[in-house]
Amino acid sequence: MKVRFWGVRGSTPTPTLDNFRYGGNTACVEVRTPQGEILILDCGTGLRVLGKKLLIEFGQQSIRANMFLSHYHWDHIQGIPFFEPLYNPENHFFFHSFPSQGRSVQEVLEGQMSDPYFPVDLSAMRAFRSFTRIDETSLPFRDAVVTTIRLNHPQGCLGFRIECGGKVLVYATDNEPGSPEHDKNVRKLAAGADVLIYDTQYTPIEYVSLRKGWGHSTWREAVNIAQEAQVCQLILFHHDPDHSDTVLDTILGEARKFFPNSVAAWEGLELDLALEEHTKPRDQSERRTGPRQIMHIPLRVLGKRADGTSFEELTTLENLSLRGAFFLLENDPDPADTLEVEFDVSTGKVPGQGLQKVQSQLVRNQPLKLADQTKRGVGVMFR
Ligand SMILES: [Zn+2]
Ligand SMILES: [Zn+2]
Repeated sequence: MKVRFWGVRGSTPTPTLDNFRYGGNTACVEVRTPQGEILILDCGTGLRVLGKKLLIEFGQQSIRANMFLSHYHWDHIQGIPFFEPLYNPENHFFFHSFPSQGRSVQEVLEGQMSDPYFPVDLSAMRAFRSFTRIDETSLPFRDAVVTTIRLNHPQGCLGFRIECGGKVLVYATDNEPGSPEHDKNVRKLAAGADVLIYDTQYTPIEYVSLRKGWGHSTWREAVNIAQEAQVCQLILFHHDPDHSDTVLDTILGEARKFFPNSVAAWEGLELDLALEEHTKPRDQSERRTGPRQIMHIPLRVLGKRADGTSFEELTTLENLSLRGAFFLLENDPDPADTLEVEFDVSTGKVPGQGLQKVQSQLVRNQPLKLADQTKRGVGVMFR
């Protein structure tokens, strides 16, 4: 089962330079099963970009996908009118969610395209569409089984558990802790999951002081669930529109102190649940997407090991991207700690040139077998 994040933000899209690294599109996660089933979890603005990618991938072939809507708040449905494959009669889409306020799934979804909210009406959407009412249930989709459960959110919300090829992915966003029934539900849904994607919109302080009753959760509750439900990997999701990249780095650092195998979801993050790395909490497996420049610049890396002792190591940059860098280390850095990377860019000709320091967040740390030895392949995102 492969998973790709197209939108990771909660509430409203936030395209600003402050959150360029994690991304500003709202909730949309694509799941592909080994037999080629496409399952789409929520249709926030990230869905528009997924649509573009599907058009390139499928070309003239017809596209068929099942879309699961956790609920109908804007950040979970706004991508639908902008999902280009819906306008091609050759394609097939199956929407699954719960009826709301006496209206069917179809009626609720059509409402967002009614006059005067959108210039084109539904007759322009010529793909085959079906709308299925689901509640707490378990349904097969070719080689996957999707189980749903109710979460605690204003106007209701569903969490999804996808089981496929012996692996389990759980998507539980827009959930507020504190309701005994729903607290139990989310732990049941997440039990033994390989990957848990969970709502971490607020910091614990924001939640307690300002945001109780708004239907969202914190990294602290995410860690509690991950530990109690014995989850392998935790993905922090539904980032608050006011949380910049720097704030998210801090939240991730806090979560990793309690649950080292935590990742803060970013647009473009890909997971392959068939790979063993998800079962090894010490290894971080994120890969940076986008263009990378191969650049062999001398580096000095300062950080802490998991036992709290400091290290300083000379190495060479392997590649550099807008997001961060990749290099090899003999030391095994602590995922919860910041790494300081010093680039030696002195040419001896320009005064002021020399070591340039960059604070970085560890995103990848895996053993790499080289010809004569094993080193850690370390990826960082710049803070
Ligand atoms: Zn939401
Ligand atoms: Zn919501």
